[in-house]
Amino acid sequence: MTQLVTVAFGDGIGPEIMTATLSILDAAGADLRYEVIDIGERVYAAGHTSGIAAESWDSLRRTKVFLKAPITTPQGGGFKSLNVTIRKTMGLYANVRPCVAYAPFIQTRHPAMDVVIVRENEEDLYAGIEHRQTSEVYQCLKLVSRPGCERIVRYAFEYARANNRKKVSCFTKDNIMKLTDGLFHQVFKEIGAEYPEIEQDHWIIDIGAARLADTPEIFDVIVTPNLYGDIISDVAAQITGSVGLGGSANIGSQIAMFEAVHGSAPDLAGRGVANPSGLLLSAVMMLNHLGKGEVAQRIHNAWLKTIEDGVHTQDVFQHGVSREVASTDAFARAVIARLGERPDQLKPVRYAANAPLRLEPAEAPRRPAAKKTTVGVDLFVDFRDGSPDDLAARLQTLENARLKLKMITNRGVKVWPNGAPETLTTDHWRCRFMNGGGPVSIQEIAALQLRAADAGVDFIKTEHLCDFDGEPGYSLGQGQ
Ligand code: NAD
Repeated sequence: MTQLVTVAFGDGIGPEIMTATLSILDAAGADLRYEVIDIGERVYAAGHTSGIAAESWDSLRRTKVFLKAPITTPQGGGFKSLNVTIRKTMGLYANVRPCVAYAPFIQTRHPAMDVVIVRENEEDLYAGIEHRQTSEVYQCLKLVSRPGCERIVRYAFEYARANNRKKVSCFTKDNIMKLTDGLFHQVFKEIGAEYPEIEQDHWIIDIGAARLADTPEIFDVIVTPNLYGDIISDVAAQITGSVGLGGSANIGSQIAMFEAVHGSAPDLAGRGVANPSGLLLSAVMMLNHLGKGEVAQRIHNAWLKTIEDGVHTQDVFQHGVSREVASTDAFARAVIARLGERPDQLKPVRYAANAPLRLEPAEAPRRPAAKKTTVGVDLFVDFRDGSPDDLAARLQTLENARLKLKMITNRGVKVWPNGAPETLTTDHWRCRFMNGGGPVSIQEIAALQLRAADAGVDFIKTEHLCDFDGEPGYSLGQGQ
């Protein structure tokens, strides 16, 4: 069945690799019709700060499938990243990035590597909520939700099951971020219990990333929050041999977007030398998503055969292994010439005729709300006219019988009571008021704010301290 797909040619090398990719899809009989939209530099220049015109969203909503070439994000000037905008607006919560070695035909130190990174795509520090709070201190909010964790973790396990993968590893930093990353890890354990046939483990992101760069063959599927996933998937794509080989899928419950891992490579633009493989392998994922597994398999195997025959673009060219340096177009023609062939040494792919990527895990029912008890407040204060003891003395004048100053931290380190003289302090102080463990009303917190304002205390925000089902929903100060 002819399928309508939204296509964007993008910037830099985008038009060259997209033309090459579409020529292969058409020659293979993918039976697609393309609705072309304009995104990126020209659209930014025309005054759309998001890099996409309003009518282009209609195309995405109509076709529900987007094959996208890379674009150039203008530096500074209030422009928002189009990629992040599309992912978040369209609810593309799962970013799937297979990273596979093609040794000995493409040079890599990791010939057995075959890892799929499933990156959470909407939350974490990419909420993009940043504030400058004082002269010296800037803040970026890291937001992690239970429903967000549940659907990405379930997606990773469903992906593993559908693609016959044996293990799912979770990477977080929950030894430090016990609430946010702790939730991601907790949900991984809870949902993992529903997939007993799949091996599962958890790694702290720093050692996990180190092992991924050093011994990637010990990993199979990795599921991880947004920022870690962004970083490790570029590392993983690069160590397979070239970032130009990596394809990716951004999957939502309604719409999916397929794009190469790499950017618009302005250094190569217009020279006809870019590797179209990342975009082509993204298109293969798209065909699987559309239930066109047969044609996906034909293209992927022809591509493997091309690589095996030593027809290589310059980024993966290697003397003694490569037979010819192919231009972008020549590489596409070589793949087309091999449609119907299979690789002899590399493992051929086999795809089911229906779609392994369109997993759409059942939405978990929302849990009942936890019992919330407010027990205090952190008042964040802009202050530079004295020591922590001076600040504490001022704040103690705000106390009443129910709200007492318990602690002051600076950049998360306790500086009052009993701070260390060595601690560097800035103009940004978190001042914790509590009611000895008992509940506090919102009115009492508002009254404390009013007393602070009347006393000339320059507070720049407050965070309420709440227990949820009796568990503290706030971190302690470092050293508390
Ligand atoms: P890049 O990925 O464009 O390039 C990094 C390096 O890899 C360059 O040396 C480049 O020549 C090489 N390279 C990339 N793709 C290649 C290919 N297909 N074949 C051969 N070599 C390839 O990263 P960058 O230089 O940091 O970013 C350039 C622009 O791309 C920036 O404006 C950035 O914002 C944008 N970008 C866009 C996307 C996207 O649209 N999805 C993703 C990343 C970066």
